[in-house]
Amino acid sequence: MRHFIEQLEALAKSHKTDAKWVFVPTRSLATTLPERLLHRGCDWANFRFVTPFEIALEMVGPHLVSAGIRPKPEELGPSLIARLATALPADISPHFRPFLSQPGMDLCLWRTLNELRMAGIEPHQLIGRLENTKEPELVALLQAYIDYLTEHRMADRAEVFLQSASLASGHPTREADLLLEAPFHIWSPVERRFLDSLPGQRHRTRRLDFGEARRRDTLGARSEITIRTGKSDADLLLWLTDPDQAPQFKNDGTLQLFAAGRRDAELKEVKRRIVTSELPIDQVEILLADAGSHDLAMDCFAAESWPCTSSVGSSLISSRPGQALIGLLDWFEKGYPAFRLRELFSSQLLRPGSVPSGVAAFMLDRTKATWMRASYLPNIKRLRGTYLRRAESDEEMDEEYAEALRKKAAQAEGLGDWFRSLFQRFRAPSTEGFIEWATWVEGLLETLRNDVVLSGQSDRAASARLECFLSELLLLESFRLPVNDFVRTLWHKLSGLRYGGSRCRAGHLHISQFGAQPPVGRLHTFVVGLEEGRLERPPIQDAVLSDEERRRIQPGLRRSRDDTLEAEMQVLSSFGALDGHVTLSFSNRCLDTGQELLPSWHLFNAARLRDRTLDSYETLYQQLGEPIVLASEHEGDPSGWWFRILGRQPEDVEPVVFGAYPHLARGSSAQQQRESATFTQFDGWVPGAARELDPRSTMNPISVSRLQNLAECPFRYFLEHGLGLVPPGLELPDADQWLDARTRGSILHEVYASYYRELRGKGWAPVFERDRRRLREHLSVEIEKVKRQLPVPSAVIEKRETLALRNDLENFLRLEESNSDRNPVGFEVGFGMSERFHEPLARCEPVILEFGDWRLPLRGRIDRLDKLGDGYEVVDYKTGRKLSAPRSAVFDRGRLLQYAVYALVAEHLLDGERVLKSSYYFPTVGAERTWRRYEPPAREEVKQVLGKVLDPLDTGAFVHTHRSHEDCRYCDFRRACGAHTDASIKAKLENQDNDVLESRRRLLETK
Ligand code: SF4
Repeated sequence: MRHFIEQLEALAKSHKTDAKWVFVPTRSLATTLPERLLHRGCDWANFRFVTPFEIALEMVGPHLVSAGIRPKPEELGPSLIARLATALPADISPHFRPFLSQPGMDLCLWRTLNELRMAGIEPHQLIGRLENTKEPELVALLQAYIDYLTEHRMADRAEVFLQSASLASGHPTREADLLLEAPFHIWSPVERRFLDSLPGQRHRTRRLDFGEARRRDTLGARSEITIRTGKSDADLLLWLTDPDQAPQFKNDGTLQLFAAGRRDAELKEVKRRIVTSELPIDQVEILLADAGSHDLAMDCFAAESWPCTSSVGSSLISSRPGQALIGLLDWFEKGYPAFRLRELFSSQLLRPGSVPSGVAAFMLDRTKATWMRASYLPNIKRLRGTYLRRAESDEEMDEEYAEALRKKAAQAEGLGDWFRSLFQRFRAPSTEGFIEWATWVEGLLETLRNDVVLSGQSDRAASARLECFLSELLLLESFRLPVNDFVRTLWHKLSGLRYGGSRCRAGHLHISQFGAQPPVGRLHTFVVGLEEGRLERPPIQDAVLSDEERRRIQPGLRRSRDDTLEAEMQVLSSFGALDGHVTLSFSNRCLDTGQELLPSWHLFNAARLRDRTLDSYETLYQQLGEPIVLASEHEGDPSGWWFRILGRQPEDVEPVVFGAYPHLARGSSAQQQRESATFTQFDGWVPGAARELDPRSTMNPISVSRLQNLAECPFRYFLEHGLGLVPPGLELPDADQWLDARTRGSILHEVYASYYRELRGKGWAPVFERDRRRLREHLSVEIEKVKRQLPVPSAVIEKRETLALRNDLENFLRLEESNSDRNPVGFEVGFGMSERFHEPLARCEPVILEFGDWRLPLRGRIDRLDKLGDGYEVVDYKTGRKLSAPRSAVFDRGRLLQYAVYALVAEHLLDGERVLKSSYYFPTVGAERTWRRYEPPAREEVKQVLGKVLDPLDTGAFVHTHRSHEDCRYCDFRRACGAHTDASIKAKLENQDNDVLESRRRLLETK
């Protein structure tokens, strides 16, 4: 390439006034070449750097417009081919069609058909030249594509070239003009035909002899071989294929090599070299051996706030708008789980209408929506109603608070409106599970325009690229397909797109991909990622046409070996175009997998330019030295701490690290205190919260389950009720399960209560044969209620779980029929709770238990109260896990309180009537035993235990549980906790100097 530029420079001098046309394969090369001439101080007047397509379109444009024909959009190819293939008549035996759902198959088909078009092949020319099994389908597909273009009045690239090549006049070039073509590019047959049809004086381009490429002589530029010359060490890269013949290495510092441990270290080392050598960044070009490292490189240099241009462009699916659309597609595919949508809201990728994203995420949590479309609107409506009811029901409520509730209700309404419009954009699939392609693509487009949050220039660029891409997809005629196919197709198409590519600009560091186009010719070039296999293209046969079929169709068609040779030529030409100061590097470990990587032969031979005796990788590694794993040694850069600790004693390391990162110093101090035997502020001691949460001081009613939780882990209680942390309510639904244990339990509780209330009204006792059917009817009512909130994943799962519930209910009924000695009188008896069923014993006010020197306000619901002889029995249904407390336990360290406290509450509700028993009842099929009965303990005993349980609320000593295997397994706050060990907490508990833990010590000894 360098010789070609020198040739252009010479032509600029020798043919100052003549028009000079330079045909290049890409627009970016059309801008790079003049810039390189300018860098060399060449006045390039009268040069026109153009792609053949630009000229061809200029020539036939007026004809196409007058005939009402428009160019075919570039992105449309793969989708169009997939669409046409599925619409082929059924009597054409399928060869490729069964694989169309595989990612990339549509792209393979499109590339091959496009190649055939660019070779000027007509469908009939394929007949007799292909394998029998594929011929009918491929011929029909090529014909269908041509018919589609005709019918929709479109012209593809091939058509533009073919028509312009056949024009007898209207050429932009004149006979006297000079015509040159970029060396090494191999044109397609129709491009070649068009270029050959242009009038003008053809100049042979100068190129080096980098080996043979089969098609170059017929399709490439008319060229002449020139000799290699080199003034600096970097110029010796022209001898990369033959280092033994290269001139002597001068060690002038223009060619450097290094090895890094991983790609991030490699990029940081490049950055370090730029900083330490004080290179002006707009004199630096970073050439990446593969585009996969692009985003990492951008991040690396953006971290320094260096302005960068990139001809590669960033991956669209890594952009925020790309992430938003990918997230939405994922939401569709997984069955609309609320959990996934909340992620999109809370990461500020989607904003639902006028409702801020954070508020929407919070509300979605509160709605308890689960998944499936049907679960959203009713739940949002319910939430809105709750806010409004709360705002209007309490006349004594602070007006400011009531106003806040009304605002929330309005936001819930806004969220509901957004869901309504979203579901209109993405209409529900038909009963067979099909959706309309065009409707859903339009839906994505509308969501992108209205709901995707854009927070900067880069987001806007990505959004514009996405909009353009989706608009082109809309040109396809609509068709019906399953949701999952839609998602997979879109995902696959999006994953290949890039955005934000730009030409190099003054004041910017430039990043480009090595081999994709020639370097822009800056003074300093870093070629990054020269590992084995990055620049080579293995000879792989095309998935659609074999080499043999290609040979039979037309010699000008590429074959697998051509790909390899042509790519190699391109790479060598790019190495040959490097001048100024060049640094080549590679990483010896893969960033993702940790796998060991070898340098490419290009880097090996570059090292041999320096030392021709080099004959093995071992010697190369010795010469390159230890791979750089930590790049920064710059004192002012905190990340340079690694360098500053190398070789130091362990005790000298901390000051260096903590100097660079003060928050690590604070963390280390906290950790030391946690590990000590002293109970500190880092272990949950919050004296400021003492009595603030204690119901005995505040008289705010507390439930018994909260008391049990407090006994289990005071720290969890503080996180939840002191700091107000709320665990994420939404979870990804389990596709194989419908009802979780809690929902199952509440269904059974509701059925038990409604069944018994009915019996109570009639004065009946349970009879299995008579009541079995009625119990099922109650169950159906409850299941319908649940379905509105929690849609059923499938009919099979619904049937399975309903059957299990029926079996449990029948088991319950048999047990009840046999319990003739008891008379249930109260069901779901609430206290301190709102009351829906007018239970005679229930009351909305809390029950306040008097314990002499203190009083405890309580709220809750007693599952059942049975009349038993001359007294009563409190019954608590257990439909899930068995009790964790051992049989011998009475209070089990304060975790077994309910039976004892409810006995006192029941006596209070029954105006002093005796409670003889307080029991746990296990009426489900899988229960090990049916009853666990307790004599209610004496009031004084209960008071002693409750005092110890409540003590953390009095002292502010919210210590962690020291039995993590027992208590942390199902804790929702594990992520907010974590840094403690059982051993250190035990040590604090055993340390008698920690006075505030005295009551906890005594509680843990309570049987
Ligand atoms: S994870 Fe364990 S120690 Fe931490 S809050 Fe939860 S139960 Fe307590």
